[in-house]
Amino acid sequence: MKMRVCKRCVMNDSSDKLITFDGNGYCNYCTNALIKKKHIYFPNGEGQLMIKRMVEEIKKDGKGKKYDCIMGISGGLDSSYLLYLGYKWGLRILAIHVDDGYDTDISKSNIAKLSKATGIDIHNIVPDKDQFNGLIKAYMKAGVPNVAAPQDNILFAFLYSEAKKYRTTYFLSGENFALECILQAGNTHSARDKVNLMDIYHKYGEEGIDKLRFTSNWRILATRFELGIKERKPLNYIDYNRNRAFKELEQFCGFQYYGAKHLENKLTAFIQLVWFTKKFGVDKRTSHLSSMIISDQLTRSEALDVLKQPLYDEKMMNSYFNEIKENLRIDDNEFDQIMNAPVHLHEEFKTDRLYYGVIAMGSRVKKMVRRIHRKSMNKSK
Ligand SMILES: [Zn+2]
Repeated sequence: MKMRVCKRCVMNDSSDKLITFDGNGYCNYCTNALIKKKHIYFPNGEGQLMIKRMVEEIKKDGKGKKYDCIMGISGGLDSSYLLYLGYKWGLRILAIHVDDGYDTDISKSNIAKLSKATGIDIHNIVPDKDQFNGLIKAYMKAGVPNVAAPQDNILFAFLYSEAKKYRTTYFLSGENFALECILQAGNTHSARDKVNLMDIYHKYGEEGIDKLRFTSNWRILATRFELGIKERKPLNYIDYNRNRAFKELEQFCGFQYYGAKHLENKLTAFIQLVWFTKKFGVDKRTSHLSSMIISDQLTRSEALDVLKQPLYDEKMMNSYFNEIKENLRIDDNEFDQIMNAPVHLHEEFKTDRLYYGVIAMGSRVKKMVRRIHRKSMNKSK
């Protein structure tokens, strides 16, 4: 069957089975993103005002504390640019970076340059190398999509424990509409689900993971409640343009371009470009490029041209394969076996059903209360 591509963005039905098209040939992803755009993304004057208010609020809350706010930094564009903006706004930021041993040299040097130029302390968390790689190997053997979950979970664990230590209320998040308004549905699972992580490890892990520090949905919820944590996504309050942001960072501290999205880390590059494509038939570039079309920083024909290019540089990726194989202590044979084995969903393993059940019930109750409120408002009119 011929692949069907959306006529407005570049999402298609070959890499996404959940996609639907309307009579104009526009897909559900870009249609929904455009509906959300005016409620989420404020690239003009209104955003400036929102930033001013946000910065005042954060500084007021930070009085008497060591830090005004906390954030994670991967070394990629979003978090690096956010750190730079926070510095420009005069925020005292505590930044956390998880060094899982797979940072590219460019990324390492970018983080060092940013830290030096802003004077912001970037706390480097180094998980136990053998146990971390043992866990990654378990995820790969399990054949589940979100192999990035362990790294994310470890980052959350440190973010929340540091927030607790310094009583920091505000979290800055690099999540943004401009480059991420279209994210493929399916083939994912929350990194905060410790039940899922532990079950995958128990079924496929070999040695131990007692030296790694994890968090869970419940622990995060409890800390959020205890500290009254507030999350802000300032990249939605500016005209966030990828090329301009890179240029600005380059002029500020000599930040170097590292290639496409997520390529600041060799393991992430492998997951994004090889794992998802080869095992799940998903080309992650389509979501990213489609997001850029919707936020008006790329035309559809430019995006289609990008998609005609090879996914990655073979030589570079081969060197990443070798490093991953060495760290995971697997030979070519076992690597091929893992790559050719059938895939599985995270839901085939234990999940934190109680948490998701409570959340679902909470949102049903919220909807019901809203409906009753609306009805009583209508009656009183
Ligand atoms: Zn579309």
